[in-house]
Amino acid sequence: MSSMDKIFSGYRARQALQERNHSPFSKGIAFVDGEFVQPNDARIPLLDEGFMHSDLTYDVPSVWNGRFFRLDDHIERLVTSCEKMRLRFPLSTDRVKEILTEMVVKSGIQDAFVELIVTRGMKSVRGNKPGDLLDSNLYLLVLPYVWVMDPQDQYTGGSAIIARTVRRTPPGAMDPTIKNLQWGDLTRGLFEAMDRGSTYPFLTDGDTNLTEGSGFNIFLVKDGVLFTPNRGVLEGITRKSVIDVAENNRIEVRLETIQVELAYRCDEIFMCTTAGGIMPITTLDDKPVSDGRVGPVTKVIWDAYWAMHYDPAYSRPINYD
Ligand code: PLP
Repeated sequence: MSSMDKIFSGYRARQALQERNHSPFSKGIAFVDGEFVQPNDARIPLLDEGFMHSDLTYDVPSVWNGRFFRLDDHIERLVTSCEKMRLRFPLSTDRVKEILTEMVVKSGIQDAFVELIVTRGMKSVRGNKPGDLLDSNLYLLVLPYVWVMDPQDQYTGGSAIIARTVRRTPPGAMDPTIKNLQWGDLTRGLFEAMDRGSTYPFLTDGDTNLTEGSGFNIFLVKDGVLFTPNRGVLEGITRKSVIDVAENNRIEVRLETIQVELAYRCDEIFMCTTAGGIMPITTLDDKPVSDGRVGPVTKVIWDAYWAMHYDPAYSRPINYD
Protein backbone atom coordinates (compact mmCIF):
# COMPACT_ATOMS: atom_id res chain seq x y z
CA MET A 1 0.00 0.00 0.00
CA SER A 2 1.45 3.40 -0.95
CA SER A 3 1.53 6.16 1.63
CA MET A 4 -1.10 7.96 -0.42
CA ASP A 5 -3.35 4.89 -0.16
CA LYS A 6 -2.77 4.78 3.60
CA ILE A 7 -3.57 8.46 4.19
CA PHE A 8 -6.69 8.35 2.02
CA SER A 9 -7.97 5.01 3.31
CA GLY A 10 -7.62 6.29 6.89
CA TYR A 11 -9.56 9.38 5.86
CA ARG A 12 -12.29 7.30 4.17
CA ALA A 13 -12.58 5.07 7.24
CA ARG A 14 -13.12 8.12 9.44
CA GLN A 15 -15.65 9.45 6.92
CA ALA A 16 -17.56 6.19 7.21
CA LEU A 17 -17.62 6.58 11.00
CA GLN A 18 -19.04 10.08 10.53
CA GLU A 19 -22.26 8.41 9.34
CA ARG A 20 -22.79 7.43 12.97
CA ASN A 21 -22.04 10.90 14.30
CA HIS A 22 -25.42 12.08 15.59
CA SER A 23 -24.24 15.41 16.95
CA PRO A 24 -26.55 18.28 15.91
CA PHE A 25 -23.34 19.85 14.61
CA SER A 26 -22.08 16.83 12.68
CA LYS A 27 -22.23 18.81 9.41
CA GLY A 28 -20.44 21.79 10.92
CA ILE A 29 -20.66 24.48 13.54
CA ALA A 30 -20.31 28.25 13.55
CA PHE A 31 -19.59 30.74 16.32
CA VAL A 32 -21.31 34.08 15.80
CA ASP A 33 -21.87 36.79 18.40
CA GLY A 34 -20.90 34.50 21.25
CA GLU A 35 -23.23 31.65 20.23
CA PHE A 36 -22.80 28.26 18.60
CA VAL A 37 -25.11 27.69 15.64
CA GLN A 38 -25.40 25.40 12.66
CA PRO A 39 -23.54 26.84 9.64
CA ASN A 40 -26.76 27.32 7.65
CA ASP A 41 -28.23 29.35 10.50
CA ALA A 42 -25.12 31.51 10.93
CA ARG A 43 -25.87 35.12 10.00
CA ILE A 44 -23.67 38.17 9.75
CA PRO A 45 -25.15 41.67 10.09
CA LEU A 46 -25.51 43.27 6.66
CA LEU A 47 -23.74 46.40 7.87
CA ASP A 48 -20.64 44.58 9.08
CA GLU A 49 -17.79 46.26 7.19
CA GLY A 50 -16.41 42.79 6.48
CA PHE A 51 -19.39 42.40 4.17
CA MET A 52 -19.80 46.02 3.06
CA HIS A 53 -16.15 46.59 2.04
CA SER A 54 -14.44 43.22 2.44
CA ASP A 55 -12.72 44.95 5.36
CA LEU A 56 -11.55 41.75 6.99
CA THR A 57 -8.85 39.19 7.27
CA TYR A 58 -9.15 35.47 7.88
CA ASP A 59 -7.26 32.25 8.32
CA VAL A 60 -7.88 28.57 7.72
CA PRO A 61 -6.25 25.94 9.90
CA SER A 62 -7.32 22.32 9.73
CA VAL A 63 -7.98 19.33 11.90
CA TRP A 64 -6.69 16.02 10.58
CA ASN A 65 -7.33 12.68 12.25
CA GLY A 66 -8.59 14.48 15.35
CA ARG A 67 -5.54 16.74 15.66
CA PHE A 68 -5.09 20.45 15.02
CA PHE A 69 -2.32 20.96 12.47
CA ARG A 70 0.01 23.95 13.03
CA LEU A 71 -2.78 25.87 14.76
CA ASP A 72 -0.35 28.29 16.43
CA ASP A 73 1.19 29.18 13.07
CA HIS A 74 -2.23 30.01 11.66
CA ILE A 75 -3.25 32.09 14.69
CA GLU A 76 0.06 33.92 14.62
CA ARG A 77 -0.43 34.78 10.93
CA LEU A 78 -3.98 35.96 11.67
CA VAL A 79 -2.79 38.20 14.51
CA THR A 80 -0.11 39.67 12.21
CA SER A 81 -2.69 40.21 9.46
CA CYS A 82 -4.90 42.04 11.95
CA GLU A 83 -1.98 44.27 12.94
CA LYS A 84 -1.23 45.07 9.30
CA MET A 85 -4.87 46.03 8.76
CA ARG A 86 -5.13 47.93 12.05
CA LEU A 87 -7.83 45.53 13.15
CA ARG A 88 -8.14 44.73 16.82
CA PHE A 89 -7.89 41.00 17.48
CA PRO A 90 -11.13 40.61 19.41
CA LEU A 91 -10.27 37.92 21.99
CA SER A 92 -7.12 36.50 23.49
CA THR A 93 -5.53 33.88 21.29
CA ASP A 94 -5.85 31.33 24.11
CA ARG A 95 -9.59 31.97 24.32
CA VAL A 96 -9.91 31.58 20.55
CA LYS A 97 -8.10 28.25 20.72
CA GLU A 98 -10.42 27.12 23.53
CA ILE A 99 -13.52 28.04 21.54
CA LEU A 100 -12.22 26.32 18.42
CA THR A 101 -11.48 23.17 20.40
CA GLU A 102 -14.96 23.27 21.91
CA MET A 103 -16.46 23.63 18.44
CA VAL A 104 -14.55 20.69 17.01
CA VAL A 105 -15.52 18.55 20.02
CA LYS A 106 -19.19 19.55 19.74
CA SER A 107 -19.16 18.66 16.04
CA GLY A 108 -17.35 15.37 16.51
CA ILE A 109 -15.67 16.00 13.14
CA GLN A 110 -12.23 14.36 12.90
CA ASP A 111 -11.08 16.00 9.67
CA ALA A 112 -12.08 19.61 9.56
CA PHE A 113 -11.74 22.85 7.63
CA VAL A 114 -11.58 25.57 10.27
CA GLU A 115 -12.08 29.22 9.43
CA LEU A 116 -11.52 32.32 11.57
CA ILE A 117 -12.69 35.65 10.18
CA VAL A 118 -11.99 39.01 11.80
CA THR A 119 -14.00 41.90 10.36
CA ARG A 120 -13.87 45.65 11.03
CA GLY A 121 -17.32 45.41 12.61
CA MET A 122 -20.15 47.89 12.27
CA LYS A 123 -18.16 51.12 11.96
CA SER A 124 -16.65 52.15 8.66
CA VAL A 125 -13.08 53.44 8.52
CA ARG A 126 -14.41 56.43 6.60
CA GLY A 127 -15.50 59.13 9.03
CA ASN A 128 -14.12 57.48 12.15
CA LYS A 129 -10.93 57.84 14.14
CA PRO A 130 -8.68 54.78 14.57
CA GLY A 131 -9.38 54.84 18.32
CA ASP A 132 -13.11 54.45 17.60
CA LEU A 133 -12.60 51.42 15.39
CA LEU A 134 -12.15 48.86 18.10
CA ASP A 135 -15.31 46.79 17.69
CA SER A 136 -14.03 44.17 15.31
CA ASN A 137 -16.07 41.00 14.99
CA LEU A 138 -14.84 37.44 15.12
CA TYR A 139 -16.62 34.67 13.25
CA LEU A 140 -15.55 31.05 13.57
CA LEU A 141 -16.54 28.10 11.44
CA VAL A 142 -15.80 24.38 11.49
CA LEU A 143 -16.80 22.29 8.47
CA PRO A 144 -15.83 18.86 7.17
CA TYR A 145 -12.39 18.93 5.52
CA VAL A 146 -12.36 20.59 2.09
CA TRP A 147 -10.29 19.32 -0.87
CA VAL A 148 -9.10 21.89 -3.41
CA MET A 149 -8.01 18.79 -5.36
CA ASP A 150 -9.95 15.57 -4.81
CA PRO A 151 -7.91 12.74 -3.28
CA GLN A 152 -8.54 10.59 -6.35
CA ASP A 153 -7.01 13.25 -8.62
CA GLN A 154 -3.89 13.55 -6.47
CA TYR A 155 -2.65 10.19 -7.78
CA THR A 156 -2.42 11.47 -11.34
CA GLY A 157 -2.28 15.24 -10.85
CA GLY A 158 -4.47 18.10 -12.00
CA SER A 159 -4.56 20.51 -14.90
CA ALA A 160 -3.56 24.17 -14.61
CA ILE A 161 -3.24 27.19 -16.87
CA ILE A 162 -1.15 30.30 -16.76
CA ALA A 163 -3.89 32.92 -16.72
CA ARG A 164 -3.67 35.46 -19.54
CA THR A 165 -6.87 37.41 -19.00
CA VAL A 166 -6.11 38.47 -15.44
CA ARG A 167 -3.08 39.16 -13.25
CA ARG A 168 -2.65 38.87 -9.50
CA THR A 169 -3.57 42.01 -7.58
CA PRO A 170 -0.26 43.78 -6.91
CA PRO A 171 1.13 43.90 -3.37
CA GLY A 172 0.94 47.70 -3.48
CA ALA A 173 -2.83 47.41 -3.84
CA MET A 174 -3.84 44.57 -1.53
CA ASP A 175 -0.93 43.10 0.43
CA PRO A 176 -1.23 39.35 -0.33
CA THR A 177 0.63 38.42 2.87
CA ILE A 178 -2.60 39.45 4.59
CA LYS A 179 -4.93 36.53 3.97
CA ASN A 180 -7.92 38.25 2.42
CA LEU A 181 -11.18 37.64 0.60
CA GLN A 182 -10.74 40.20 -2.17
CA TRP A 183 -10.96 37.37 -4.63
CA GLY A 184 -11.85 39.28 -7.82
CA ASP A 185 -8.62 38.33 -9.60
CA LEU A 186 -8.65 34.73 -8.37
CA THR A 187 -12.29 34.26 -9.37
CA ARG A 188 -11.58 35.61 -12.84
CA GLY A 189 -8.68 33.16 -13.03
CA LEU A 190 -10.97 30.27 -12.07
CA PHE A 191 -13.39 31.22 -14.85
CA GLU A 192 -10.56 31.45 -17.36
CA ALA A 193 -9.36 28.00 -16.31
CA MET A 194 -12.87 26.61 -16.84
CA ASP A 195 -13.21 28.35 -20.21
CA ARG A 196 -9.92 26.78 -21.29
CA GLY A 197 -10.95 23.27 -20.19
CA SER A 198 -8.67 23.29 -17.16
CA THR A 199 -9.14 23.53 -13.40
CA TYR A 200 -6.49 25.62 -11.67
CA PRO A 201 -5.35 29.15 -12.61
CA PHE A 202 -1.78 30.27 -11.98
CA LEU A 203 -1.59 34.06 -11.94
CA THR A 204 1.40 36.19 -12.84
CA ASP A 205 2.31 39.61 -11.48
CA GLY A 206 1.57 41.10 -14.89
CA ASP A 207 5.28 41.34 -15.54
CA THR A 208 6.04 37.71 -16.50
CA ASN A 209 6.63 36.48 -12.95
CA LEU A 210 4.68 33.69 -11.32
CA THR A 211 2.66 34.45 -8.16
CA GLU A 212 -0.03 32.09 -6.86
CA GLY A 213 -3.46 30.71 -7.66
CA SER A 214 -7.00 30.60 -6.38
CA GLY A 215 -6.27 29.56 -2.81
CA PHE A 216 -2.87 27.90 -3.17
CA ASN A 217 0.86 28.55 -3.45
CA ILE A 218 2.88 27.13 -6.33
CA PHE A 219 6.15 25.19 -6.34
CA LEU A 220 8.21 24.26 -9.39
CA VAL A 221 10.90 21.59 -9.35
CA LYS A 222 13.88 21.92 -11.68
CA ASP A 223 16.96 19.67 -11.47
CA GLY A 224 16.02 18.62 -7.95
CA VAL A 225 15.67 22.20 -6.66
CA LEU A 226 12.36 23.64 -5.41
CA PHE A 227 11.36 27.12 -6.55
CA THR A 228 8.54 29.23 -5.14
CA PRO A 229 7.79 32.95 -5.54
CA ASN A 230 8.89 35.22 -2.71
CA ARG A 231 6.68 38.18 -3.60
CA GLY A 232 3.07 38.80 -4.50
CA VAL A 233 1.88 35.75 -2.58
CA LEU A 234 0.41 34.68 0.72
CA GLU A 235 3.10 33.13 2.88
CA GLY A 236 1.18 29.89 3.15
CA ILE A 237 1.50 27.63 6.15
CA THR A 238 1.55 24.65 3.78
CA ARG A 239 4.32 26.41 1.84
CA LYS A 240 6.14 26.71 5.17
CA SER A 241 5.63 22.97 5.76
CA VAL A 242 7.03 22.25 2.29
CA ILE A 243 10.09 24.33 3.13
CA ASP A 244 10.49 22.45 6.45
CA VAL A 245 10.18 19.11 4.68
CA ALA A 246 12.66 20.13 2.00
CA GLU A 247 15.19 21.21 4.63
CA ASN A 248 14.79 17.91 6.50
CA ASN A 249 15.32 16.03 3.25
CA ARG A 250 18.24 18.16 2.06
CA ILE A 251 16.30 19.43 -0.90
CA GLU A 252 17.32 22.95 -1.86
CA VAL A 253 14.52 25.54 -1.84
CA ARG A 254 14.77 28.92 -3.53
CA LEU A 255 12.35 31.68 -2.63
CA GLU A 256 12.85 34.23 -5.36
CA THR A 257 11.37 35.99 -8.34
CA ILE A 258 10.28 33.22 -10.70
CA GLN A 259 9.84 33.90 -14.36
CA VAL A 260 6.69 32.19 -15.56
CA GLU A 261 8.75 30.68 -18.36
CA LEU A 262 10.32 28.25 -15.84
CA ALA A 263 6.89 26.65 -15.39
CA TYR A 264 7.02 25.52 -19.03
CA ARG A 265 10.40 23.82 -18.79
CA CYS A 266 10.50 22.52 -15.21
CA ASP A 267 10.40 18.85 -14.20
CA GLU A 268 7.55 18.93 -11.71
CA ILE A 269 4.86 21.31 -10.46
CA PHE A 270 2.72 21.16 -7.37
CA MET A 271 0.34 23.49 -5.61
CA CYS A 272 -0.13 23.56 -1.87
CA THR A 273 -2.79 24.69 0.56
CA THR A 274 -4.30 23.71 3.89
CA ALA A 275 -7.45 22.50 2.12
CA GLY A 276 -5.96 19.64 0.13
CA GLY A 277 -2.27 19.56 1.01
CA ILE A 278 0.26 18.90 -1.74
CA MET A 279 -1.48 18.80 -5.10
CA PRO A 280 0.49 17.69 -8.15
CA ILE A 281 -0.02 19.44 -11.47
CA THR A 282 0.75 17.22 -14.44
CA THR A 283 -0.82 19.27 -17.24
CA LEU A 284 0.00 22.92 -17.87
CA ASP A 285 -1.65 24.91 -20.65
CA ASP A 286 -2.87 21.63 -22.18
CA LYS A 287 0.60 20.07 -22.34
CA PRO A 288 2.08 17.44 -20.03
CA VAL A 289 4.51 18.67 -17.39
CA SER A 290 7.66 16.71 -18.20
CA ASP A 291 6.44 13.10 -18.74
CA GLY A 292 2.97 13.97 -17.47
CA ARG A 293 3.28 11.92 -14.31
CA VAL A 294 3.57 12.89 -10.64
CA GLY A 295 7.29 13.35 -10.09
CA PRO A 296 9.62 11.92 -7.42
CA VAL A 297 10.28 15.17 -5.54
CA THR A 298 6.54 15.88 -5.31
CA LYS A 299 6.06 12.37 -3.90
CA VAL A 300 8.71 12.88 -1.21
CA ILE A 301 7.13 16.18 -0.20
CA TRP A 302 3.63 14.68 -0.29
CA ASP A 303 4.55 11.80 2.03
CA ALA A 304 6.50 13.92 4.50
CA TYR A 305 3.81 16.61 4.57
CA TRP A 306 1.12 14.14 5.61
CA ALA A 307 3.46 12.43 8.08
CA MET A 308 3.77 15.80 9.85
CA HIS A 309 0.05 15.59 10.66
CA TYR A 310 0.79 12.70 13.01
CA ASP A 311 3.88 14.33 14.51
CA PRO A 312 3.42 16.05 17.90
CA ALA A 313 5.95 18.68 16.83
CA TYR A 314 3.38 19.99 14.36
CA SER A 315 -0.01 18.72 15.50
CA ARG A 316 -1.97 18.58 18.73
CA PRO A 317 -4.57 15.93 19.64
CA ILE A 318 -8.10 17.01 20.49
CA ASN A 319 -9.84 15.26 23.37
CA TYR A 320 -13.34 14.46 22.08
CA ASP A 321 -14.62 12.90 25.34
N1 PLP B 1 -2.55 31.58 -1.44
C1 PLP B 1 -3.82 32.00 -1.33
C2 PLP B 1 -4.29 33.16 -2.16
C3 PLP B 1 -4.70 31.37 -0.45
O1 PLP B 1 -5.95 31.78 -0.33
C4 PLP B 1 -4.22 30.24 0.29
C5 PLP B 1 -5.12 29.53 1.20
O2 PLP B 1 -6.30 29.70 1.20
C6 PLP B 1 -2.89 29.83 0.13
C7 PLP B 1 -2.08 30.55 -0.73
C8 PLP B 1 -2.34 28.66 0.91
O3 PLP B 1 -2.20 29.02 2.26
P1 PLP B 1 -2.12 27.95 3.42
O4 PLP B 1 -1.07 26.98 3.04
O5 PLP B 1 -1.77 28.72 4.64
O6 PLP B 1 -3.46 27.29 3.51
